[in-house]
Amino acid sequence: MKICKVCHIEKQLTDFRKVKINKDGYCGYCKACEKEKKKKYYLKNKENIMEEVKKYYRNNKDSIKKTQTIYINNNKEKISLAQSKSYLKSKKERLLGQKRWYENNKEKQKNNAKEYRKNNKESIAINDEKRKPHRKAMRQTEEGRAKNSSSCMKYKAIKLGTSVNNTKEENYLIECVYAFSSFKQLTTGIPQHVDHIMPLSKGGLHHPSNLQILTAIANMSKGAKII
Ligand SMILES: [Zn+2]
Repeated sequence: MKICKVCHIEKQLTDFRKVKINKDGYCGYCKACEKEKKKKYYLKNKENIMEEVKKYYRNNKDSIKKTQTIYINNNKEKISLAQSKSYLKSKKERLLGQKRWYENNKEKQKNNAKEYRKNNKESIAINDEKRKPHRKAMRQTEEGRAKNSSSCMKYKAIKLGTSVNNTKEENYLIECVYAFSSFKQLTTGIPQHVDHIMPLSKGGLHHPSNLQILTAIANMSKGAKII
């Protein structure tokens, strides 16, 4: 134990910084007091210190950069972990913010998209071309086809403003309906369609409870009627 010269409190030796030149090997004042002292000094001399730091940085730019690069290279995993942590933490807030922004700027956003499509016809066509093999691969499996048609319908429902916030399970059920429809078509040889009992155009929802499988002929004669 040792008594601090500044706060006069008796503290453990671990509360004192080690100093070689002192007889007992420890600083005369405790770590807490040292911290307080440094803080006071900093506040009193803030401007001078900042000036010194800036000067130091200016004079040692290259070596500082070198040290930083070495640190980054040696701690890549640590850094990316910290970054992804903060990313996940802010993800929810960011999504909420985006949603709010979109609600407030719907019209503007629509016009922007239109304008973008008009001005970037070429690059959009190139990207479409790039995605073609992926789409082709999607169409070659039952699962891919079901996913594809169910997501097309989802897009249509969003456009008509009748999309519901389906849960994961409900979305999976929808995919199943589409998969079953193509299975039925495959086994019977009769073209089948997944139909919205209450049509989307009449405010029907894109929800498993509003889906039925009809033969293509029955569906086409149904049109936008409710059967
Ligand atoms: Zn003290």
